[in-house]
Amino acid sequence: MSDANLIPVLPAVTAFLGREHGLFIDGRTVPAQSGDRQAVYGPATGEVIAHVADGDAGDVDRAVQSAHAAFRSGAWTGLRPAERERILLRFADVVEAHAEALAQLETLNQGKSINLSRMIEVGASIEYMRYMAGWATKIEGQTLDVSIPVPPGTRYTAYTRREPVGVVAGIVPWNFPLMIAIWKVLPALACGCTVVIKPSQETPLTALYLAGLAAEAGVPPGVFNVVTGRGSRAGDALTRHPRVSKISFTGSTAVGKQVATAAIDNLARFALELGGKNPMVVLADADVDQVVQGALLGGFLNQGQVCAAASRLYVQRRRYDAVVEALGAAVAGLSVGPGLDPGAQINALVSAKQQQSVGRYLEIGRAEGARVVAGGRVLDRPGYFVEPTLLAGMRQDMTLVREEVFGPVLVALPFDDVDEVVRMANDSPYGLTASVWTNDLKAAMNLVPRIEAGTVWVNSHVPVDPNLPFGGYKQSGIGREFGRSAIEAYTEIKSVCIAH
Ligand code: NDP
Repeated sequence: MSDANLIPVLPAVTAFLGREHGLFIDGRTVPAQSGDRQAVYGPATGEVIAHVADGDAGDVDRAVQSAHAAFRSGAWTGLRPAERERILLRFADVVEAHAEALAQLETLNQGKSINLSRMIEVGASIEYMRYMAGWATKIEGQTLDVSIPVPPGTRYTAYTRREPVGVVAGIVPWNFPLMIAIWKVLPALACGCTVVIKPSQETPLTALYLAGLAAEAGVPPGVFNVVTGRGSRAGDALTRHPRVSKISFTGSTAVGKQVATAAIDNLARFALELGGKNPMVVLADADVDQVVQGALLGGFLNQGQVCAAASRLYVQRRRYDAVVEALGAAVAGLSVGPGLDPGAQINALVSAKQQQSVGRYLEIGRAEGARVVAGGRVLDRPGYFVEPTLLAGMRQDMTLVREEVFGPVLVALPFDDVDEVVRMANDSPYGLTASVWTNDLKAAMNLVPRIEAGTVWVNSHVPVDPNLPFGGYKQSGIGREFGRSAIEAYTEIKSVCIAH
């Protein structure tokens, strides 16, 4: 791959990378109290691209106290909803003005294609920001009839209000660092909460950039804070802080359970968006070309580092060979290269750790008898590249059918009838997403309610929308993001009862 294919990096991005990054607390950049720093790597090359502050429990305390003071002061919560909405819309405009810089920064730090950074990580996030900004003026309660009999002759009028829950801790993973930070910050701010974000140590840069833009847009000091650092140190301290009222966590199921345990200690509210091992169910009447395109998008978007990704492909036996052959050829034809090359379809994984983890899964797959239809290798070149891979000859009890690989690896299995595929699809501790591929309306409508998943797509896999609730069944999580569900998640209900 020659550098000639790479888009030129904006001077503003180069300057941002070279900065002495600190934590973002109380509206300004401050150093970590310990002075500890961490290197940030570029997945396309494996080289250090920046350094950030490595925050600890003391830094987390400063950020939470700042968020708590801002919440109590009413500087944000007390604004008229229309004022909050206007500031959040301005925030979206400022992000839009910096769209290309944010997209390049994300690609340099996360590894993903610049096309994906522009379209999803930044473009879709701006739409999400405007959608959530609009909720600030649409939060509502109910009026309720009550039958309280005392004192005699007294009547009551009762109603509910939704009030902001307080300080929100947002723990953000490395697969969509900017987008998932925005998924947490915007509904929280729309409801009048204040926020402390802890990005993944692998991908801390865009959250820091975003915090600066929030301040530029007029979000008051203390309302949006960012503490960079390790999950086991800064993340752990944040989830245990007694002044945190709500934790919104996206990441692995194992860490999600730790976060929930810490939340229970303080009776903090929590929402968990965790892993998935998502089935893509293809009935025999489905169009093979459409299925192949759907599997490429559903299985290989962001190198498969997507909680909602299609990772188990079940094809009705009559079409199994045709689908595996066509998909194998398509997967083998995907071009591999750095994210800054807009022509590269598969890019580096986020980290050396993730590359090793996916490599180990590929070895396990081979050892258990999987047949490699396409790809199958960790690439021996600088950066964290793994070939896009399709495996066949799988059995339901194999490790790669059961565990989340979180890489560019799709496994294919045949099935005979619908009852069998329902059993196989639901035979997983996870239940995040699924898709059904058929042009038989009756078959689709019968299958959708039988699949244990928070989202089921028909004839597509992976698109999400700000107005459509998103979250998991079973061990894929608790709670829903997006739409009205997000607003409910960041508010408490207060009942008001007036005697007259
Ligand atoms: P983790 O669950 O470890 O990380 C997710 C977030 O939690 C990161 O910000 C991390 O910080 C933070 N964190 C880690 N430990 C703690 C803790 N004790 N308390 C509070 N926060 C903590 O995921 P990994 O990065 O290790 O990825 C492992 C696997 O998790 C992946 O292979 C994939 O299967 C799954 N995953 C799922 C995601 C999803 O979208 N649902 C996203 C990412 C991963 P830091 O990174 O700094 O340690």
